[in-house]
Amino acid sequence: LAVHKTPPSELLAKLRLPVKTLTGPGPTNCSKRVLQALQNQVLGNLHAEICQLLDEIKAGLQYVFQTKNRLTLAISASGHSGMEACLGNLLEPGETVVIVKCGIWGERANDIAHRIGACVELIETDHDQAVTLEQLETSLKLHRPVAVFIVHAESSTGLKQPLEGIGDLVHKYNALLIVDTVASLGGEPFFMDSWGVDATFSCSQKALGAPSGLSPVSFSPRAEEKLFRRKTKPFSFYWDMTVLGVYWKCFGNEERVYHHTVSATLLYGLREALAEIAEEGLPSSWLRHAAAAARLRDGLKLRGLRCYVKIPRYQLSTITSIELPPGVDEKIIVRRAMDRYKVDISPGLGPTKGKILRVGLLGSNAASKTVDLVLRALDDGFKQASRSKL
Ligand code: PMP
Repeated sequence: LAVHKTPPSELLAKLRLPVKTLTGPGPTNCSKRVLQALQNQVLGNLHAEICQLLDEIKAGLQYVFQTKNRLTLAISASGHSGMEACLGNLLEPGETVVIVKCGIWGERANDIAHRIGACVELIETDHDQAVTLEQLETSLKLHRPVAVFIVHAESSTGLKQPLEGIGDLVHKYNALLIVDTVASLGGEPFFMDSWGVDATFSCSQKALGAPSGLSPVSFSPRAEEKLFRRKTKPFSFYWDMTVLGVYWKCFGNEERVYHHTVSATLLYGLREALAEIAEEGLPSSWLRHAAAAARLRDGLKLRGLRCYVKIPRYQLSTITSIELPPGVDEKIIVRRAMDRYKVDISPGLGPTKGKILRVGLLGSNAASKTVDLVLRALDDGFKQASRSKL
């Protein structure tokens, strides 16, 4: 039997990590309060203190989602798990789903829905354009889906999908509305109940300001009803909302039952991140994100740079995409920002690769001083990129 005789020397060195300003599309930096919370000792997943934390987190998530839904909880994994949970619980093999694809996240939902065995009908838009109610109605009439999937904040392009009116339209055709709020929750106005959203999922590491590893989800009574009348079990036990809901005590006075071992430390971090939003007030958090994005857009305009998304009501506050002027190598800018300023600026992703830079001003980074630092790093990066062309 081959056994390593000596322990790996890499692990005998002290762990040392730099502090960076995370202004890509996520994750973002955690506040001191969140980092301190993460240092608490682990507790068991059915201990009274953890059960109380689960209730507090549920209340915080109902607040940030603006919902009264009882089936509201955080799944133990990053945002993708919420996407799989929403699609996997609400679609059965052979059922039709309409997916609005404005960028890579609609495409990812397409991939997952196919794995579930659903029939997918795509509505594709230009990458800087949201879907209109008319386009959606045409597809609903034609395909009669059981669900519609739409991304609120397309982080690959910086596009915001206005959601007003979509819930009513989807319900007129007896379908459920699933919304990806991974890149918007806490940073953009979102009203789950009054917008008629039936299922939504998000992440902990963007505008909420916690580390990644938890995916907040919420299901409306209409979505819950679908869960309990499924003919087949959802493909994944881990994401099964009917059993997860029992652990999170969502269905009434049932006794909590072990489902999986939650990360106690991640719960501490998310609890404190939600507490910070509760103390600030959700509308103030939305305004702060909007003000930071406006400051960045003003700075870009002064420098002759253009946003990739031109129509203001489609521009996200959380993530701004900057059009790359012809001939500029974005890799030089990204590298310079990191090397000189420890500032994380992201290139495009998928269809926007080589066309844009992306700046995320999320959570505690939605602040003037972070915007000014990003602009300084961009100035230097663009200078460097034009020098390299000479
Ligand atoms: N949806 C959107 C809109 C996203 O921006 C992301 C992450 N960038 C995801 C889903 C996937 O989330 P995660 O990386 O946390 O799994």
